[in-house]
Amino acid sequence: MVYSLNDSEKGSLLIVDDESEVLKSIKRYFRNKYIIYTANSGDEGYKTISSQPVHIIICDQRMPGMSGTEFFKKIKNTFPYTIRIILTGYSDIQAVISAINEGNVFRYVAKPWDPIELDAIIKDAFERYWLTINNLILMKELKIANETLEERVKARTAELTKINETLKFEIEERKRIEADLQASKQELFFAKNEADAANKAKSEFLAKMSHEIRTPMNAVIGMTDILLNVTNTEPQLKYLNIIKTSADNLIAIINDILDISKIESGKMRLEKINFNLNFVVDEISKILEITANKKGINFSYSINNDVPIFLKGDPFRLKQILLNLTGNAIKFTEKGNVEILVSNYDRNSPNATIKFIVKDTGIGIPKDRLNLLFKLFSQVDSSINRNYSGTGLGLAISKQLVELMNGKIGVETEEGHGSCFWFIAIFEKQSEEDSVKCCFPNDNNKELNPIDLFSLKILLVEDNFFNQEVIIGFLNNSSITIAGNGKEALNLLRDKIFDLILMDVQLPDMDGLEITEIIRNKKSDVLNHDIPIIAVTANASREDIQNCLEAGMNEYISKPIRYQKLFEAINKVLKK
Ligand code: ADP
Repeated sequence: MVYSLNDSEKGSLLIVDDESEVLKSIKRYFRNKYIIYTANSGDEGYKTISSQPVHIIICDQRMPGMSGTEFFKKIKNTFPYTIRIILTGYSDIQAVISAINEGNVFRYVAKPWDPIELDAIIKDAFERYWLTINNLILMKELKIANETLEERVKARTAELTKINETLKFEIEERKRIEADLQASKQELFFAKNEADAANKAKSEFLAKMSHEIRTPMNAVIGMTDILLNVTNTEPQLKYLNIIKTSADNLIAIINDILDISKIESGKMRLEKINFNLNFVVDEISKILEITANKKGINFSYSINNDVPIFLKGDPFRLKQILLNLTGNAIKFTEKGNVEILVSNYDRNSPNATIKFIVKDTGIGIPKDRLNLLFKLFSQVDSSINRNYSGTGLGLAISKQLVELMNGKIGVETEEGHGSCFWFIAIFEKQSEEDSVKCCFPNDNNKELNPIDLFSLKILLVEDNFFNQEVIIGFLNNSSITIAGNGKEALNLLRDKIFDLILMDVQLPDMDGLEITEIIRNKKSDVLNHDIPIIAVTANASREDIQNCLEAGMNEYISKPIRYQKLFEAINKVLKK
């Protein structure tokens, strides 16, 4: 906004002169245009401007007492914006010019004054006046604006400094968190590596331990079997049966531990062979029926008509799951029934998706304990399990096996009202051609040849003295030749003809697989490359058995050796 006077307002002039004629003539000339004040000396002029608003002063230079320029000097600081004009004769011109140069005087007007000239100078003076005022106002405004701006800048700077500090702190914090994270990651990485290594070591230890236990157990079970065959007096028979049952249980536990170590190390592989589902269910039912009947429990099974029977998968592991679930059902049922129901879960599937249900009328499982089921080493209630032995591995293994069969497992149960365990497993269906050829019941029921074991020339390759004794005892054959290692065995085979070799797999110098490969190699100097070889292996896994057969062995039996199995194996290889 620009300041000046309205048209209705008048600017004010103070005329100072000691000559009253001059005062009168100027007043007369300009009174219509401006408000005119007059004074006849500097002192009087001072009084006037101290009491009236005066814009412009026109002052005579030569006055008694105080000259015009002296007057202006006097008022300069008190009224700095009033425009000062000097009226002067030429004799005083020098002082006036100095005053102009010092900035005390705006213009001078030569006497006698010319009205037109004075009028123009007054106009200029007013312009200067308002310019100065406006400049002042502007400067003031600018100053205020500047101050406000400064304040705002200050406030904003303070704010920004604060934000900056917070940010700095956050960045530091972030850096610290990142460093922590990095450290945790590193720790986790090491911990994981350690855990993996520990887990691997554990699996290896379990596998090794199971193998080591199996070897002496072979002697325990074998010798017990032999004693059972020659003993018919009580209480010896009772004691021997107790030893046998305990040893069988121990072997079952070792098998479970082996399975767990395999599952945990990711080494569990399922078979993919053709099998008949009827035979699998029938076979385990025969075993379980005996146990159930002993407890006075009814046992039954049924397979729905629409269930595909000719399947491709792992019948051994399927048997294991069914034995676990049904074994538990019988174990935890005191009266009533245990039944196995087999149904087709998805008729539209190109695969065979089969549901197995194992139902019992036993003790059931409390709801709050259900989350423990299917977890390793967990038994539902330790007080209950004082009455029921078990390791708590069966369901965990079953769950893993079912998952390997792309299925799932679950249970519906009510405490005191029995349980219903179920699982769904997916198998491939056999081709029509395979179905025709496939799957007669195992050799278990086949007729065995009456073989005179006594007259057989058998080479037993076995380094463990007790296991040698077990087989000698089983075969009741004192003419068995024994080789304690591979080298001895090959030397004997170069010199003598045998009917049969019983070959341990783990031997001190070379393993049974290598020895077999040498025997089967037509270039080796053994006398009979086609001699039947039966593997006697403590490694009971399907993979180990497969390795034996691939190396050229004809049959296998696993430790602990059962008389019946050994007899069947010998029968089988000699019949061929
Ligand atoms: P184990 O039977 O060797 O202890 P499992 O893993 O097979 O181990 O079973 C774990 C636990 O689940 C058992 O100890 C038992 O408490 C409970 N359980 C399993 N099946 C049944 C069942 N049919 N009825 C009641 N409880 C059962």
